[in-house]
This record gives sequence, structure tokens and C-alpha cells, in this order.
Amino acid sequence: MRVAQAEFVISNTDVAKCPRDPFPEYAFIGRSNVGKSSLINTLAGRKSLAKTSGRPGKTQLINHFKINKNWFLVDLPGYGYARTSKTTKKAFQKLITRYFEQRKQLVSAFVLVDIRHAPQNIDLEFMEWLGTNYIPFAIIFTKADKLKPNAINRNVTDYLAKMREGLWEEVPPHFVTSSLHKTGVEEVLYYIDQLNQEFKAAN
Ligand code: GDP
Repeated sequence: MRVAQAEFVISNTDVAKCPRDPFPEYAFIGRSNVGKSSLINTLAGRKSLAKTSGRPGKTQLINHFKINKNWFLVDLPGYGYARTSKTTKKAFQKLITRYFEQRKQLVSAFVLVDIRHAPQNIDLEFMEWLGTNYIPFAIIFTKADKLKPNAINRNVTDYLAKMREGLWEEVPPHFVTSSLHKTGVEEVLYYIDQLNQEFKAAN
């Protein structure tokens, strides 16, 4: 899929105020600094559609972007920033829970994981929460340019093996990306395109 149009629609903290258009929706989420804003900008082919994080953990906003006038890309707040207060963490949990409970048009979440790191509990627990709530998701490994191909393969294999040790019998789809080199971007867009077509056929 070619992204011909990408526009910011609304930022808010209230799920009830998210756009009503019956478009298929895809939510991007991950730890602060994982490379989410960079990836969103790369996917959208824009330099600064999503704000790259100057102050991680500060903004707890749901950002809707309309792509090609027929689907929503959603930038959810980053989690796991070390200096976040307990109150902020609670607010984040509430916002995210509400988002996933209420956005019926959500087709898939994309959980972003830095390819350099060993599996972190905060990500694994979040994915388990998605799984137990029947929310479809795919994993996007970010910053692949930072590793050599062998290390990429090893880390991906280890990550999925760790998931299989947990509750996952079948691991979710996954993508290896680099915003710097624009790797994996076409694959993610193709995946979304396929899901958009399924969504259209079913609605
Ligand atoms: P966010 O907090 O998840 O939105 O992360 P950002 O997109 O703001 O990126 C966090 C940091 O990682 C920034 O310094 C980016 O330049 C860097 N970064 C993001 N994506 C990549 C990538 O694909 N490759 C490399 N080498 N650095 C990246």
C-alpha cells in the first residue's frame, strides 16, 4: 500500500471523543523511546506527523491519524518510563484499558519492541493482557539497523521462544523494522492493507 495521504485528526485523553468514522483502526504502542514516533512517521512517509519524544512519558494522549482517508493509525502513549509516577501509571492503565475496551473498530494493535533488548516483563505482560482480552496484535521489532543480520535472527528467535514458554501456543505475526533504513515498512503496510480488505469485506 502506498500512503498517499496522512493527516492528524485529534489528540485526546477521552476515549469517548475518539473519531466516530467507521474506519478500521490500528494502534501502535510500546515502551517510551522504543522508536514509535519514528516508525509512525516512516510508515506515513512524513517527517513529523508523530512527535518524536523529547520528554518521554510526559504525554498521555491518544493520537488519531487518518491515512488514505480510509483507515486510522493510532499513536498510543508509551509505557514503562522509569521516572513515571504511580498516579501517571494508573492513569495510563485506565486510558489504555478503556481504549481497547471501547474501540470496536480496532483491527490490530502493534506492540513495538526494541530488537536489541532481551524480552522485558513489561512488554510480555502487556501482550498477555492483550491476548487474554482477545485483542489481536502483531509485534514490531524496531531499530534493526543497530544489529547485524545474525543478531537480528537470534534475538527474534529468542523472543518468540520466550513467548512460547509463556501462555502462547501460537506466536503473533512479527515484523523487523528500521526507521533509519526504512526496512520492514512495506511489509507492515502490506499487512495493514490485507486486514483493511478483510475489514471491508466483513462490514
Ligand atoms: P518513541 O518514544 O517510542 O516515540 O521513540 P522515538 O521515535 O522518539 O525514538 C527514540 C530514539 O530512538 C530517538 O533518538 C530516535 O532517533 C531513535 N530511533 C528511533 N527509531 C530508530 C531506528 O530505526 N534506528 C535507529 N538507529 N534509531 C532509531
